[in-house]
Amino acid sequence: MEIKFTFEEKEIQKVVRRFAREDILPIRKEVDRQGDLPEGIKERFIEMGFLRSPFPEAYGGVDGTFTGLVIALKELSYGSMIPAWMLFENFMLAYPLLRYGSEFLKDTYLPGLISLETIGALAFTEADTGSDPTQLKTVAERVKGGWLINGSKRFITNSGICNHMILFARTGNDVTAFVVQSDKEGYKPGKRETFIHSAAFDNGDLYLEDYFAPDDHVIGEVGQGFEILLQTEAVGKIAFSAFFIGLAERALDLAVQYANTRTHRGKPIGGKFQMTQWKIARMMVRIEAMNAYLFHVCARVDGGKEIFTEAALLKLMVAEEVKAVILDAMEIHGAYGLSQEYEVADLYRTAIGAQVIMGSLDIQRVIIARGILGKAHYSHHS
Ligand SMILES: Cc1cc2nc3c(=O)[nH]c(=O)nc-3n(C[C@H](O)[C@H](O)[C@H](O)COP(=O)(O)OP(=O)(O)OC[C@H]3O[C@@H](n4cnc5c(N)ncnc54)[C@H](O)[C@@H]3O)c2cc1C
Repeated sequence: MEIKFTFEEKEIQKVVRRFAREDILPIRKEVDRQGDLPEGIKERFIEMGFLRSPFPEAYGGVDGTFTGLVIALKELSYGSMIPAWMLFENFMLAYPLLRYGSEFLKDTYLPGLISLETIGALAFTEADTGSDPTQLKTVAERVKGGWLINGSKRFITNSGICNHMILFARTGNDVTAFVVQSDKEGYKPGKRETFIHSAAFDNGDLYLEDYFAPDDHVIGEVGQGFEILLQTEAVGKIAFSAFFIGLAERALDLAVQYANTRTHRGKPIGGKFQMTQWKIARMMVRIEAMNAYLFHVCARVDGGKEIFTEAALLKLMVAEEVKAVILDAMEIHGAYGLSQEYEVADLYRTAIGAQVIMGSLDIQRVIIARGILGKAHYSHHS
């Protein structure tokens, strides 16, 4: 399968690739530690407007493609996860607003999110569940003119720094999606998490105490929240997979550089040992396969096709393959692969996040298996 990018997508790739490699990569450690880009570089990053690609002009977008955004995410994460993550979190609110939100919600929130003037988030997970929407305990109760939300959320990225988020709460037997604003009464961030793979990200508990959401802050219909969550997470898994492939590409480049320069009895290990060549070849096979499937699924999104099972498949594949690629890169580095001073160890720490964020791997397996069990035979769709 040949991946054919449009002129605009190729331009995005060229510009982001240069920016990530020339401006971000040399300061990667500092960016990852601070969880932010330094002044000057941040302004340029915001001006480049990579999140505009899949959104309509009417809301500050450019009527481009989802593929364009995914290219930007992958290229950015080659330099650092931080700028890619800024785009991703805003996308996770902007996408459901565009697809399900009223004109009022789109006009109010999309321009700020797309231009990165505001910070977005998504809040589903609770202390007792991250996988099962039927176990949600956060409740929205009908009151005059809107809804009163009470409950708590856990592991919510950006919940301490965002301006607004999409939040899922029970409304009777159903789930409903709301826009929740952090500057309103009843919005209370709690304990912050420090994950091993991303210490700089803001992530933690959130309490809703008699938080009032007016009727016009319901996204879609009352009771449509489960569908909105599944569709948003499906597209999110694709965007999210792109970051991790960016990490794998960086790991391959580091392994090749190391194999070309580390010597054994005067000869570079890359040229000398077939075992090293075998690992490099295996890394490349995995990266090529991930890229081919990533952009195949992106083309389905841009073509308006269903991607629910494909997104689960991509996420499962990427979480497993990226880890394997980075482990090979670490092995080629010998003991230096475990050194805090070497970038490849940081890549591994980041990569293990892929197995939980945006849904556990078991859940992806359940989705994939359900897609085929009951069918007479496997047939690849065109
Ligand atoms: C860095 C980070 C950022 C995050 N950001 C956000 C965020 O911004 N917003 C948000 O809402 N959440 C966020 N999360 C939470 C994340 O989405 C959940 O942790 C994840 O969905 C898993 O949920 P859980 O931890 O409750 O695990 P559980 O759902 O309790 O699962 C525990 C184990 O049981 C298995 N299991 C559960 N149900 C089934 C089933 N039906 N079939 C088979 N196996 C099953 C799982 O695979 C897993 O191995 C974040 C998590 C991390 C680590």
